[in-house]
Amino acid sequence: MKYISTRGGVEALSSAQAIKKGIADNGGLFVPDHIPLLTDALFDKLVPMTYAERAAEILSLFLDDYDKTALLSDCVKAYESGAFTGGAAPTVKLADNKYLLELFHGPTCAFKDMALQIMPRLLSRALKMTGEKKTAYILVATSGDTGKAALEGYRDVEGVRIKVFYPVDGVSDIQKLQMSTQDGANVSVQAIEGNFDDAQNGVKNIFSDVKLNNELHEKGYILTSANSINWGRLAPQIVYYISSYADLYKQGEIKLGEKISFCVPTGNFGNIFAGYLAYRMGLPVKRFICASNKNNILTDFLNTGVYDRNREFYQTVSPSMDILISSNLERLLYFVAGPKKTAGYMKQLAETGRYGIADNELKEIQSIFTGGYTDEDKTLETIKTTFKDTGALIDTHTAVAYRQAEKYVYETGEKVVTVSTASPYKFAADVLKALGKKRTTSRGALSPLYDLSSYTGTEIPAPLARLEGKAVRFSGAINKADMPASLFD
Ligand SMILES: *Cc1c(COP(=O)(O)O)cnc(C)c1O
Repeated sequence: MKYISTRGGVEALSSAQAIKKGIADNGGLFVPDHIPLLTDALFDKLVPMTYAERAAEILSLFLDDYDKTALLSDCVKAYESGAFTGGAAPTVKLADNKYLLELFHGPTCAFKDMALQIMPRLLSRALKMTGEKKTAYILVATSGDTGKAALEGYRDVEGVRIKVFYPVDGVSDIQKLQMSTQDGANVSVQAIEGNFDDAQNGVKNIFSDVKLNNELHEKGYILTSANSINWGRLAPQIVYYISSYADLYKQGEIKLGEKISFCVPTGNFGNIFAGYLAYRMGLPVKRFICASNKNNILTDFLNTGVYDRNREFYQTVSPSMDILISSNLERLLYFVAGPKKTAGYMKQLAETGRYGIADNELKEIQSIFTGGYTDEDKTLETIKTTFKDTGALIDTHTAVAYRQAEKYVYETGEKVVTVSTASPYKFAADVLKALGKKRTTSRGALSPLYDLSSYTGTEIPAPLARLEGKAVRFSGAINKADMPASLFD
């Protein structure tokens, strides 16, 4: 299996090389040069397996330069060994034809753990496989969720050091607490004065600073990023779509070969695109429902074929989906339009903020994707009605999708799995508001969690409960100009 750029042109790489490199030299994203098949024999083999075993089987098809025994050992460490309490990716039934694929049982209580628990291990092996002697220095600018998930994934991984920058007033109290108390000998967290763009631009400047890079080289480091366009983050997400189907079959909810639909709360288009790859492998999927919040640029694109980022940006109660550039959409364009046209669309996007695809390309996309969006009021209302009707407490991101899934099930009578991307406790203040409850306890950043627990009779997830009383390791904010110097701390 070789990896090529969505924009064509560059040399084909092995998966280890692609994972180490992150992004192709021409700005394109890495995609596999062919798609392996999910044969009946392979599916039969997956059904009785654990999640970690399924992951190793599926990953080995895409990462065929990796030793399969090593992959299995990495998957067991990533998805078992207590990291995922309640199972890595259980599918639960909420009502007739309505299911939730729960991806939030990892160490940071959000679905990014599904990729970031395994990706560092893949990178660590990639460094060895490519003969890299230097330590990979991972830099992350975060508005909250990604930073914490990356810290948990990379902590104490061999051959890697990680530093996360966050805007001092741009993350929630609980996110700040999660990051500032982070364990691990190879981690560091730095608040900076300014907003998320300042943090992100600061990191971008570090990457393009030749003198600084040379200095880091001399000290034995190469800079890398952990962002969601890396193939090492995307590949692990293919697994849970296939695993969910296997579980539904095992539970007797579906017949072999029966087509089901997935509804995915979408921002950067990574999660849902991984589902598309599972479908291209042969998973029986009827539709992917791409659910957006008020930032409904993808809904418009899926309806009209025009992607236009020249629009207002909204801050919503589902902040991890507040995105105007869905980077991974480029990978879908590659599969329907080919590298040449994809390169053209991306050029237009960079120059004018807008592109429109051809009719036949739009038709092909619409044959499997449907777009829909949920506004702020409906999102909160869905949390309340779902809790009342099914007893399931869902977070704001999941609610955006669940609303669209309900609509689809109502119209078609077909089965839909909604991908649940965060624990309600991660967004406890808004979930409480949705339920119509006031905050009553005063226990600092954790107050809304205690309120939510006592009101709903559900338990605070252990990784969040453990934050109580945990010592702060990283404090104080620095000026953006001091970010480069802080790398040597
Ligand atoms: C990142 C994230 C999403 C969006 O996933 P994409 O792969 O970027 O589309 C949805 N929900 C939560 C909770 C997230 O953290």
